[in-house]
Amino acid sequence: MELRECKKCLLLQSGDEDNHKLVQQYIAKIKPEEKCDGAIYAQRLEICKNCDNLISGSCIKCGCYVEFRAAFKNKKCPDTKLKKW
Ligand code: SF4
Repeated sequence: MELRECKKCLLLQSGDEDNHKLVQQYIAKIKPEEKCDGAIYAQRLEICKNCDNLISGSCIKCGCYVEFRAAFKNKKCPDTKLKKW
């Protein structure tokens, strides 16, 4: 799949398979006690997928790949006004 800038898309939807794989590898290394619950993780990503700040898997508020940021229990949405999750 070709890489393209994609609003409200996660990495795979943007065609960025390489970074998707990398992020999955990093997520696999998060300590269990620091990792977010799977249901909450899915809920967070759904919120991101409906957010104008998500572009090609990255949040423009913090520059993070949301799939990675959302995987941490103690991380929050970086939008200081809306705090979406
Ligand atoms: S601002 Fe929050 S909800 Fe929006 S993409 Fe960033 S992390 Fe996700």
